[in-house]
Amino acid sequence: MTTDNDPLATIKMELLELEGELTRRLQKMDRSDSRPKMDGAVGRLTFMDEFQQHQMSEHGRRNVEAQLGRVHAALARVTDGTYGKCVRCGLDIPPERLEFMPEAAYCVQCHSRV
Ligand SMILES: [Zn+2]
Repeated sequence: MTTDNDPLATIKMELLELEGELTRRLQKMDRSDSRPKMDGAVGRLTFMDEFQQHQMSEHGRRNVEAQLGRVHAALARVTDGTYGKCVRCGLDIPPERLEFMPEAAYCVQCHSRV
């Protein structure tokens, strides 16, 4: 008897792995946090550079946080039994899309509309 034919169990494991990886990435970002320094010693240009870099790392962080949110939502849908269906139109999300992005909540059509 094997249970390795249960696709949902596999997906759940993948999502949990993804969750762990994203969480680690966020922790790493927290440690290497590069806030702009306001200590007058830096010139205006340098400050703007640092500010931009900070904005970019903020952007990256928000991306990771957003993805983590989608992973959590996908895990909730695995529990609900609605995983793999588009949350907008209810159609099946193509398996190749889920393989590429297991946390996907929308089918391709709906994704391009949101
Ligand atoms: Zn859809």
